[in-house]
Amino acid sequence: MVIIMKPGTSQEAIHELVVRLEQQEQVQVGVTHGVGCSILGLVGDTAHLDMHKLEMIPGVERVMRVQEPYKKANRKFHPEDSVVSAAGVPVGGGSFTVVAGPCSVESEEQIIEVARDVKAAGAAMLRGGAFKPRTSPYSFQGMGLDGLELLMEARQDTGLPVVTEIMSPKYCEVFEEKVDLVQVGARNMQNFDLLKEVGKMSKPVLLKRGLSNTYEEWVMSAEYIMAAGNENVILCERGIRTFETGTRNTFDVSAIPMLKRMSHLPVVVDPSHAGGYHWLVEPLAMSAIAAGADGLIVEVHNDPAHAKCDGQQSLTPEQFDHLMGKSAALVELMGKTFVK
Ligand code: PEP
Ligand code: MN
Repeated sequence: MVIIMKPGTSQEAIHELVVRLEQQEQVQVGVTHGVGCSILGLVGDTAHLDMHKLEMIPGVERVMRVQEPYKKANRKFHPEDSVVSAAGVPVGGGSFTVVAGPCSVESEEQIIEVARDVKAAGAAMLRGGAFKPRTSPYSFQGMGLDGLELLMEARQDTGLPVVTEIMSPKYCEVFEEKVDLVQVGARNMQNFDLLKEVGKMSKPVLLKRGLSNTYEEWVMSAEYIMAAGNENVILCERGIRTFETGTRNTFDVSAIPMLKRMSHLPVVVDPSHAGGYHWLVEPLAMSAIAAGADGLIVEVHNDPAHAKCDGQQSLTPEQFDHLMGKSAALVELMGKTFVK
């Protein structure tokens, strides 16, 4: 961090600020006296320093960060790709991991049938929402704890680890016990109380990008979880809000190489919520693989026309099987290995 002092600030005032920073903030400060103004260079852990507060100190002209405000998620301090394991299934590194299943768990028959189908097609994990964040309070809100039990049955039946969304810190205990990969949805990406509680869990976390959040905000949310003690975070690009209304969201393909440059955490893509149409899932998935994604999370339903949620963007098991077959060559070309 660099602090530029106002021209004419006295040597005493500068000295006082240096002593205060070194003693109270545990950073080392180097002072350079230029023509007209002095510059303080701060080294050490500056992540906790509030730039705007520093700018309010008399004599301070401007404060600039030279280092990112995230440490644990930062690629600079962890050059190798992280591999996050969910019940033994790896995500990241040289692996390519596909999670598939319905938007919501609707019944025992539905989740078991879809789980068997996606497993047969090569999915490594099963998704299915039990608690659903719906725009309308009148829409299906998910089966709640009963839905979690059905996911347990599907896991027992197929051996697939389960991924499902947590919406409230009050469910951390039950998720800790039952869920293999805890999803934090787009609408909760900046629910900091939830992030802190999920950060205390031992289960890995799939952190979806917020509807209108920047890369840095997204990594800072991962940092919240990691700072609380849980370093097993997977980032998921799921499309963002733009002026375009033709698609449900706009798939930000740049997010994949950008996030991989900023962070060592695995990056997966949800082409279903990004595009919003079943026929867009395959092209978006292929572009995600080509851009270096570590995996996909795809909505699959055995009867999309009658799905309680997101049927329009759900693949049938046959379409999912086709996607898996089609993506195999590209996954290999990208030097990755499918996790089965
Ligand atoms: C979901 O995965 O079902 C979901 C609600 O996704 P998002 O949080 O990305 O909208
Ligand atoms: Mn959905």
